[in-house]
Amino acid sequence: MSTTSLEVDVAIIGAGTAGLVARRQALTHGAKRVLLIEGAVHGTTCARVGCMPSKLLIAAAEAAAAIRDASIFGIAPNQPQIDGAAVMARVQRERDGFVSSVLESVGKIPEQDRLHGWARFVGPTQLEVATTAGSVQVAARAIVVAAGSAPHVPTPLRELGERLLTSDTIFELPTLPRSIAVLGAGAIGLELGQALAQLGVATTILGNGTRMPLLKSQCMQSEARTLFEHRVDLQLGIREFAAVPVADGVRVSWTRADDQRREATVEYVLAATGRRPQLARLDLHRANVELDERGRPRGFDNRTMRITDTAIFFAGDITGERPVLHEAAAEGRIAGINAARYPDVRAHVRHVPLAIMFTDPNMAVVGTIPGPEGEGEAWDVGEVDWSDQGRATIIHQNHGRARIYANRACGTILGAELIGPRVEHLAHLLAWAIELRTTVPQALAMPYYHPVVEEGLRTALQQLGRKIEMAPKPHPLDCGPGT
Ligand SMILES: Cc1cc2nc3c(=O)[nH]c(=O)nc-3n(C[C@H](O)[C@H](O)[C@H](O)COP(=O)(O)OP(=O)(O)OC[C@H]3O[C@@H](n4cnc5c(N)ncnc54)[C@H](O)[C@@H]3O)c2cc1C
Repeated sequence: MSTTSLEVDVAIIGAGTAGLVARRQALTHGAKRVLLIEGAVHGTTCARVGCMPSKLLIAAAEAAAAIRDASIFGIAPNQPQIDGAAVMARVQRERDGFVSSVLESVGKIPEQDRLHGWARFVGPTQLEVATTAGSVQVAARAIVVAAGSAPHVPTPLRELGERLLTSDTIFELPTLPRSIAVLGAGAIGLELGQALAQLGVATTILGNGTRMPLLKSQCMQSEARTLFEHRVDLQLGIREFAAVPVADGVRVSWTRADDQRREATVEYVLAATGRRPQLARLDLHRANVELDERGRPRGFDNRTMRITDTAIFFAGDITGERPVLHEAAAEGRIAGINAARYPDVRAHVRHVPLAIMFTDPNMAVVGTIPGPEGEGEAWDVGEVDWSDQGRATIIHQNHGRARIYANRACGTILGAELIGPRVEHLAHLLAWAIELRTTVPQALAMPYYHPVVEEGLRTALQQLGRKIEMAPKPHPLDCGPGT
């Protein structure tokens, strides 16, 4: 095998969202030669196995759920006829469309600026890339590590072979399974588990923790747990999970929180047991980077994306901080700009935290959520209960609750936790309001159409306004029915 060497301004490890954005930004900000290195297939986690196929599956599940719910509106009660092969065919067809648009843009990158192979550090600014044509030694002025994350599968589960699914493999199934045990009740486990259940798959979601994902406050935790335990077979606080392959699937057993032992035979087990940053292959210790006990670099600054005192920048899921798409893009941007400018590195303002789960109902968290001890002091909270909100009742999605937090002294909105009808959109309104440093009175002075779920936000804001004593006079339209 031959060894060649390359000298570049910026080398980027990983052609996911963060890496692709970093490349574009590095070029725009003065780097002449930028090398993009990808070890696996191109197409990004988001398009191939993440956001897009999962939301396609959820869209099918929502269609099935709408048919089941139709009788409430006086429309002939119907059980949806679910063609599992057709459901998966659409997921794959549309997913392939998203992937091919990524492949198209990767295809436009000149070949001499791309390498296909796994990269590892051999010095502070030197990499070795194992390509099929041999090893390539890369020397760079700065390096962006955008190596993403991968599903973490507990060792005993690996023995299940093809009966074990992860988010990397589930979207390849030719048809929907008959039954599945989803191990892990985090964002991915709940989203996929609930969608499969709505699509008629006998689904049990098992979580060893007792908390629901995203939500912080105790009351939102209980609200979410009660709601989801009624909608899906969700069992939290389980222990002693075991899975053994049998002729027709997998025999799973576990101990419930109430000490009862349960078992079932399922066609597949879906391991939704978290994702881990892909650090192992990188040999970061050879870059003179100080590592913690889990192999993560110490001294990472999330405003510059730089690892202190190095020419190395991290971006995207590899940071282990905000594993969502828009943050991977934002971090890729900062890392790309700073890698091009290195050593003249600048700090950037980060977005307000925003995370959404596309469950039914949606869950979301925005901004800063105070701990219990913070609530009585500088914070106040306003609530809306969707059960009697006008628009939510009209569309028969009157479930859940939202809590909005504001700074008591100056009235700015600081954060929110939401479960309810299409709160994916309300979470955005609040994130934008927080980024613009909007106060509660300013938010209340905005127009609210009637009847819309946004009026529910106004209810919570009005409550907050009364608490912080900064509320404007009520507007006549505040008095529409069911707001
Ligand atoms: C099922 C699922 C659903 C999701 N849903 C959402 C959602 O609805 N909304 C949302 O915002 N986010 C969602 N996410 C998260 C989102 O997909 C990720 O946050 C985002 O894709 C991360 O992008 P990235 O660039 O950091 O990593 P990636 O896109 O994973 O790119 C990293 C790349 O680096 C390559 N690589 C790794 N190591 C090396 C090496 N040593 N040498 C060369 N190449 C290497 C990998 O092969 C990979 O291609 C979801 C994720 C999953 C799994």
